[in-house]
Order: sequence, then C-alpha cells, then structure tokens
Amino acid sequence: MQIYADNAATTKISQHALQAMMPCFETHYGNPSSLHTVGQEANEILADARARVAACLGCEPREIYFTSGGSEADNQAIRSAAFYGAKKGKKHIISTAFEHHAVLHTLNALEKEGFEVTLLDVKNGHNVTAQQVKDAIRPDTCLVTCMYANNEIGSVLPIAEIGAVCKEAGVPFHTDAVQAVGHLHIDVKAQNIDMLSLSGHKFHGPKGVGALYCRRGLPLVNIIEGGAQERGKRGGTENLPAIVGMAAALEDACANMAENTAKTTALRDKLITGLEKIPHCALNGDRVNRLPGNVSFCFEGIEGESLLLYLDAQGVCASSGSACTSGSLDPSHVLLAIGRVHDVAHGSLRLSLCHENTDEEIDHILTVVPQVVELLRNMSPVWRDLQNGEREYIL
Ligand SMILES: *Cc1c(COP(=O)(O)O)cnc(C)c1O
Repeated sequence: MQIYADNAATTKISQHALQAMMPCFETHYGNPSSLHTVGQEANEILADARARVAACLGCEPREIYFTSGGSEADNQAIRSAAFYGAKKGKKHIISTAFEHHAVLHTLNALEKEGFEVTLLDVKNGHNVTAQQVKDAIRPDTCLVTCMYANNEIGSVLPIAEIGAVCKEAGVPFHTDAVQAVGHLHIDVKAQNIDMLSLSGHKFHGPKGVGALYCRRGLPLVNIIEGGAQERGKRGGTENLPAIVGMAAALEDACANMAENTAKTTALRDKLITGLEKIPHCALNGDRVNRLPGNVSFCFEGIEGESLLLYLDAQGVCASSGSACTSGSLDPSHVLLAIGRVHDVAHGSLRLSLCHENTDEEIDHILTVVPQVVELLRNMSPVWRDLQNGEREYIL
C-alpha cells in the first residue's frame, strides 16, 4: 500500500486537467502573440482560460496575470506594493510570522533595501486576528500581506475581516492563497482582497504555473522583463498547456468543493482524533479555522525526520515541518512562530489529505504512526530521560 498524504507539498494532476492540456501540445501549439490563425487560436484559448480562472475568484479576466507559480506571484505582489509605496514615502509592511518563504524571503530582501517589516505574532490560537492587523497599521504602511491559510499547520486566517480593516485604512492587501484556492470559497471583491497569489499544482493542476490577481487600478512592477505578454507585466511566451490545465483543475475544484470538503474534513477529523490518543503530543494549528486536509502534530521525544523515513517504509508519504537550511537541520519557522520550543518542533509530522484519500488509508496511518512513534521513543535518549524524570515533559 502506498498512501499519498503530502498534498500540501503538491498534488497529483487530475485526469481532466491532463486531458485538457493535450490539445495545447498537439493542435493548439501556436504562440498567442502570433498574428496567424494558429497563434490566434492559441490566444483565444488563453483568453478563455483567463476568464475561467477569474470566474472562480470573482474578479475580471483582465485582473488575472499568469505566472510561473505561487512564489513568483508572491514576489511580484510584494515588490509592486513596495515600489509604489516607496514612491509616496511609505516603507512599512505588515505580515505574519508564519508566512511561506516566498513571502518572508522577499520581505527580508526589502528590509535590506530600507523597508521596515512588522511580523504579527501567531502564538495566540496559532492564528492572527484582524485587530492585530489594525493595531499594526501606521501612516507609512504600504502593504499588508497575510497568507489565506498556512501550509504547515493549516490555520485559516480571518481574510474578510483583515480585508475590511485594510480597506478602511486605505492600505493595499495581498494574500498568499496558494493553500486556499480550490479548497475554500474565495470572492476577492466581497473579501476586499487587492492582490492574491495562487498555484496550479496545489489543486490537482500542473506544476510551474500560477496566477496573480491584482485589482484593477493597482499598479504592478515586472519581475520578468520581456515582451508585452500579460498586459506588459510579465514577459515570456505564455505556458498555454499549463495555464489550460490549471484552469480546468480550478473549475473542477470549485465545482466539487462542497463534496470534496465534506469528504476530506471527515478523514482529517478521524485522523486527528486517532492521533491525539498518542501520549505527549500536541495538535498544531487552529482547531476550528483549519484547512480541510491538514493534520499537523508534534510528538515529544522523537525526530520528525526519522518518523518520516519509517513512515515511508510503511508506505505513508508525509512531511515534517523541518526544513534543511544551510546544512544544519533547523526546526520549522512556523512551529517556532506558534511557540513550540526547538525540541518539540523537531518532532513534527504533517499529513495533508485530499478527497482521493480513503477511510482504509486513514486506518492504516492510524495503525502505523503510533507504532513508529513508540519505536522511535524507545530508541531515544531524550525519551528515556523524560521517562526517568531527569527531564520535564513539555507536552
Ligand atoms: C506551495 C506554496 C507556495 C509556492 O508555490 P509554487 O507554485 O510552488 O511556487 C507559496 N505559498 C504557499 C502557502 C504554498 O503552500
């Protein structure tokens, strides 16, 4: 048995998306910028895909800019608000401590260029509140960028409330919605979102394609200079097969959202309830406002990396929160941001589900994880100290 429970890292492309892409390789292979018939056919297909993506977000087609993925969209949104903010003497940006690195590293780069960044605390309820955003806004704030939902711990942020706060203060609001698009209902106008990033491969579309929604009237800077593609805001021949595949996947995800959410949430809750029976563990993330597929735990006295390898050997593909940074194994910045101490943060496990996972798979995971945790604890000197009372349990 092979169980794929790492859908927050990437998803398997759907058959429908794959089939939708094929004619773009075989028949509609033209360059949308070409004036001849083959090119113009491709251009019509591009326009159609743009309209379909826009419809899923509640915006106009001309407010959609196709990119190479979520990371590029995040970079472009943040760089744009920073550039135009600086022109007005506004060089303060508000974000959260548990953003994706595509956001955090862009903000780090801007700090080196003289911007000031406020990262909101996420210890309370493993989430942020609109009030925190409101309290942080200053006259020189040029951007609020808060993710829609966290990729590691699944917390879903109060986006409509944050949007309302930003609108009231007249500050542009960007959200990295890569984990939310196709999984949660989004209406950029009703939620007062000015810019939004999405990525095809997080909702069963192809990799290497994404989009930036940017409200009409809000200026963008180019990250990729080149031709006049994407209203002059993103040079490079459009990746038409990927764009078409992404549009198909997004339409399916939105059309089947209620059904998929019901199924995935039931699997998630069964998994959470079962794993919580393991002693000395803790659920990470907002228990109520949570992505349908996210299960994230810390287990005291083990190493997340060993857990992953043992689970893989048992056919379970999962993820830990840890990222290997410059050769040394640092615990995840997200787990540290919610207040997990280093030792605990190292024992993390993320299982991210989709509607294709089954009840039998959850049963298998619920058999295997407790066994592996016990096995690893029995080999761990830290666990022995905890058991002997030479160390205090944190969880
Ligand atoms: C995956 C992810 C990204 C990066 O998207 P890519 O398309 O892989 O560049 C950005 N933000 C979040 C929250 C993600 O989960």
